[in-house]
Amino acid sequence: MSSTPPPGALAAVLERLRLAETRHGRAPGSVGLVAVGKSHGPAALRALAAQGQRRFGENYLQEALPKLDALAGEGLEWHFIGALQSNKTAPVAARFDWVQTVDRLKIAERLSGQRPEALGPLQVLIEVNVSGEASKSGVAPGELAALAHAVAALPRLQLRGLMCLPAPAEGFDAQRRGFARLRELLEALRAEGLELDTLSMGTSGDLEAAVAEGATLVRVGTALFGERKPR
Ligand SMILES: *Cc1c(COP(=O)(O)O)cnc(C)c1O
Repeated sequence: MSSTPPPGALAAVLERLRLAETRHGRAPGSVGLVAVGKSHGPAALRALAAQGQRRFGENYLQEALPKLDALAGEGLEWHFIGALQSNKTAPVAARFDWVQTVDRLKIAERLSGQRPEALGPLQVLIEVNVSGEASKSGVAPGELAALAHAVAALPRLQLRGLMCLPAPAEGFDAQRRGFARLRELLEALRAEGLELDTLSMGTSGDLEAAVAEGATLVRVGTALFGERKPR
């Protein structure tokens, strides 16, 4: 695991975000940054936290828990962004602030039931499969509305919006397509009366296209921490 992120990486990503906000008519500061720490150890995350980074995303529960322990008390916001198995929901409900990858009701019901009373509601996003590949996780767009209304009714969850990780696309216009789809799906749910304010989309390679389509959170790993070792 690398111990320190490349110098200047956080400032460079924040500058990319600010430029994209300006270019695409977004309010300054309206796009938040989730630093994706998978494969990187607590020291790398601590280095970013020392530079003011507050939101961190993790994909793998076993890998994440020691980092949450090491950085407890630093006032960080933890987002679970990986595939979630139903036998691992309890520690996620207890330790994370957000879960971005809800894609079926059974997982949402378990998270709601297991969210400790002492904590506020778990903030959740529904992951949508906007690219339509059989291998990708996320709910199919045609099943989204039913799932969203059911999740919004659960007592210990607060449904905030949608998340996607589209298939990699070459070029700005192609990248925009998947993100535009997610924005349209969010707008449709809002028209049905759900109060949603979050679109989590865009990574190191395509964050500008996501900002152009209304992202409120981007999830960036490689551009902050450098290349990952293969798992
Ligand atoms: C790894 C990962 C990211 C970050 O991707 P980079 O290309 O390293 O910026 C974002 N979202 C999810 C769900 C991921 O698994």
